[in-house]
Amino acid sequence: MAFAKCFTSFLLVLCVFVPTLVLSDLSITSSNFLEHANKPEVFDWMVGIRNDLHECPELLYDVFETSERVRQELDNLKIPYKSSVAKTGVIGYVGTMEEPFVALRADMDGLPIHEMVEWEHKSKIDGKMHACGHDAHTAMLLGASKILKEHEKELQGTVLLVFQPAEEGGAGAREVWKTGLLKEVKAIFGLHVAPDVPVGVVGSRAGDFMAGSGTFEAVITGEGGHAAQPHMGIDPVVAAANVIISLQHLISREAEPGDPQVVTVAKLEGSDAFNVIPNTVTIGGSFRAFSTIRHLRRRIEEVIVAQAAVSKCNAAVNFFEDVKPLYPAVNNNEKLYDHFKNVATQMLGPQRVLEAPQVTVSEDFAFYQEELPGLFFFLGIKNETHGEEPVHSAHFDIAQDAFPYGAALHASLATTYLSDVLGSQGKQYPRDEL
Ligand SMILES: [Zn+2]
Ligand SMILES: [Zn+2]
Repeated sequence: MAFAKCFTSFLLVLCVFVPTLVLSDLSITSSNFLEHANKPEVFDWMVGIRNDLHECPELLYDVFETSERVRQELDNLKIPYKSSVAKTGVIGYVGTMEEPFVALRADMDGLPIHEMVEWEHKSKIDGKMHACGHDAHTAMLLGASKILKEHEKELQGTVLLVFQPAEEGGAGAREVWKTGLLKEVKAIFGLHVAPDVPVGVVGSRAGDFMAGSGTFEAVITGEGGHAAQPHMGIDPVVAAANVIISLQHLISREAEPGDPQVVTVAKLEGSDAFNVIPNTVTIGGSFRAFSTIRHLRRRIEEVIVAQAAVSKCNAAVNFFEDVKPLYPAVNNNEKLYDHFKNVATQMLGPQRVLEAPQVTVSEDFAFYQEELPGLFFFLGIKNETHGEEPVHSAHFDIAQDAFPYGAALHASLATTYLSDVLGSQGKQYPRDEL
């Protein structure tokens, strides 16, 4: 994901929120949690965990060492957990061990990128790097776990601490959901580090927030031949050209203006000779959309097959859903968004709680939100000394001063959700508000 620049515009739009909830127990919320998270025994501990994880990034579902470290830390905190969740996931439990249940989620996987940042905790594994900040997400959720455990007797329900594998293209969230372990959860919260947002600033929005995404490849088959005699064959190159132009019409002619959608053909392979018409041309690319993501997928297939047929070619389309599943859009529940604004405003002040713009990057947190109310937000980690390298860059870096904010917000969101939101309403938000 590439968040850089996404926030630049909305940093100028400061929002003043009117709290609609009165936080009932300030001994376990907002500034107290932040103060707690800033103490060396929490802050230094989180930084140490993040540094260790950063040195040994693992990919997709194979986050064995990371998972073991999480389990060790939960053992040390005397927090019970379930392991081997979706292969390497871990779910910790803190609170009354009875309903109501609320969940906090962190992803644990790295990326197949060779780190170019020279620092003492540089990745020790060639070709692998925590370039999306999931090492920081894991450390901050452990920080929240520590804070929540120390306030366990005050919790009015149970917080599930979800450490998830395979966010980067593997739909780990979908596999965690399939285990059934989150079935009784009333709400789920997640965060992502944002390298173009200052430390101590957060952002989110109600409704559509981050686009859904998918990948496609099409093999267009004609009948190859000599470049001098195109009439003797069926040229898949011209067919592919028409397909590519027609795919762009899905955005310019079918998408509603104001509803962000993207179709990008990024791959094009034909003959490697100047005078040979190939038998096949392969095109491939990526598409992004919000609520219309599945409709867009269907139209991409229809257009490729039909437009290829216009040129007497056949087309086979592959969406790779077994290895790169279609990600739905991140859509934040409105009431949870109000809750987030209240908690963050109490902790940070209104000037540091921003309404984020919609972005066309994706997040598998959306799979949870298809099943239960959820809220996802961005946490500023801008590193003033290294500049604004985007996530998924080999130069990506994090200002670790942000960790207490992430840990304290996680802890506060869950605690006050149990005490104030469920306490006052006694039931979960209806699905139709998703
Ligand atoms: Zn990423
Ligand atoms: Zn990420």
